[in-house]
Amino acid sequence: MNWRKSLKGKVLAQEPLKKHTSFRIGGPARFFIEPSDIDDLRFLLVQAKRYKIPVTVIGAGTNILASDRGLKKIVLHLSARCFQKISRDGNRLICGSGVSLAKVVSSAREHGLSGLEFLAGIPGTLGGALAGNAGAWGREVGSRVKEITVMDHSGAIKTLERKQIKFAYRSSGLAKYVILEAVLKLCRGNRPRIRKKISAYLSARRNKQEYAFPNAGCVFRNPSAAGAAGALIDLCGLKGVSAGGAQISLRHANFIVNTGSASAANVLALMREAAKKVKERFGVDLQPEIKLWF
Ligand SMILES: Cc1cc2nc3c(=O)[nH]c(=O)nc-3n(C[C@H](O)[C@H](O)[C@H](O)COP(=O)(O)OP(=O)(O)OC[C@H]3O[C@@H](n4cnc5c(N)ncnc54)[C@H](O)[C@@H]3O)c2cc1C
Repeated sequence: MNWRKSLKGKVLAQEPLKKHTSFRIGGPARFFIEPSDIDDLRFLLVQAKRYKIPVTVIGAGTNILASDRGLKKIVLHLSARCFQKISRDGNRLICGSGVSLAKVVSSAREHGLSGLEFLAGIPGTLGGALAGNAGAWGREVGSRVKEITVMDHSGAIKTLERKQIKFAYRSSGLAKYVILEAVLKLCRGNRPRIRKKISAYLSARRNKQEYAFPNAGCVFRNPSAAGAAGALIDLCGLKGVSAGGAQISLRHANFIVNTGSASAANVLALMREAAKKVKERFGVDLQPEIKLWF
């Protein structure tokens, strides 16, 4: 395929996705591509459309369960420097989508800007957080967005104001685009106070979250009225239940961990088991929060 030779960025064929997901699970992607800049990205999207090869974006892979058989797609990774920039303009932080959420939070802190502290400890990139409207402690990243610049799959760039974006619980409607950059609107704050809040959020997380084994965070969304998915799974007595190398975390029942050699099929089996038991006992339908790449 000639288009591959014309790309300036890195192109890997049959790249194992397990190398790029926090679960350490996933078969080969047809192509794993890191465009070198915006023009390279546009060229890639146009060619992919021309040759009818589906494209999907991966951030840090912390919210994905990828099939053991892999993906017949181009998996795009925005690692180039142009997607990693952060700058400040008054009370606003302008961030590339490839920047880690940890860096966004620490940059806001260093600039004395408050409003993102609740995101401390959520792994992944800003792009992934915006696509899934990541949140914690009753707050969501979407609430801090002023505007987002995206590229559509024809290579056209547009800027969306927050009111044009359908932010909802763990969704944004942005998955149909490649998110390039966001302007986050914050407030001036006192640096020591911001630091203190971040430390409090981090230690609250350390007390309840799973760190011992690879995982992808909460596998199910919290059902709106019925309480936390983890509490319902726990009440069904499923903590510690395993399938192959996958196990429902002993620490947090909405986490599934890879104890060493878990397959995507193992994780799915546990998800089905948990969903079935919760439905039988509480009549509640659990919906996946992690993205299933099958
Ligand atoms: C230990 C742990 C704790 C976690 N805690 C939380 C939590 O408290 N709250 C929470 O909300 N989540 C949590 N998560 C889940 C996850 O970290 C977040 O959802 C994170 O925002 C995902 O970012 P990512 O870069 O890893 O995205 P990925 O997992 O790589 O991708 C997730 C989705 O976003 C899309 N995407 C990524 N980048 C782009 C882009 N540039 N343009 C368009 N689409 C894109 C992908 O196609 C995919 O559909 C946790 C995960 C772990 C492992």
